[in-house]
Amino acid sequence: VFIAFEGGEGAGKTTQARLAAIWLRDHGYDVVTTHEPGATKIGMRLRAMLLDRDTTGLSDRAESLLYAADRADHVANVIKPAMERGAIVVSDRYVDSSLAYQGFGRQQRVEDIARVNAWATGGLVPDLTVLMEIPPSSGRDRLSAPADRIESLPDEFHERVRAGFHALAEADPDRYLIVDATRPQSELSREIQYRIREILPD
Ligand code: C5P
Ligand code: MG
Repeated sequence: VFIAFEGGEGAGKTTQARLAAIWLRDHGYDVVTTHEPGATKIGMRLRAMLLDRDTTGLSDRAESLLYAADRADHVANVIKPAMERGAIVVSDRYVDSSLAYQGFGRQQRVEDIARVNAWATGGLVPDLTVLMEIPPSSGRDRLSAPADRIESLPDEFHERVRAGFHALAEADPDRYLIVDATRPQSELSREIQYRIREILPD
């Protein structure tokens, strides 16, 4: 079973992914929590290149390929092995982040980003994707660390990302749970658990 958490900056993906993993472990499941970009050794280097504000002039296509490279390494070295041993994988971001940020956000063809990522991941698609929706301005207020290269892009970029995530989720209601990330944490985690229950093996 593979569950992804998606959404914009400051939506609380990391917190809800962690709460979901704790809940699953309490129910006896073997759970691997992971994240993108940067869950592997090479991935950490790619993450630094991608998010460092000193990285200037990176082309949109190169950016897309670096995210895809991180993801390919993540699938091969973390996600696939965990799934093969029967663990539940909970990832903070996955392919939809690239469709939303590099596709909708950077205004590249979403089909192109999808094709590159289908190849990078060997076609691995989550069983459930939880989309945590938050207005970019509220999300920004919740961030503590200084904004990285992507976070510091203008509001119009983050609005396109938000609309992109929403369009992706609306188009495939069987795979997505859309939640209003401005609601209280405990309510959100209960709603998410309820949906996860539906996709669990007995
Ligand atoms: O989730 P986290 O904040 O750790 O992600 C790192 C950064 O990478 C975020 O600021 C996000 O905007 C950016 N990102 C991106 N494209 C992706 C995934 C993440 O621009 N495909
Ligand atoms: Mg961020």
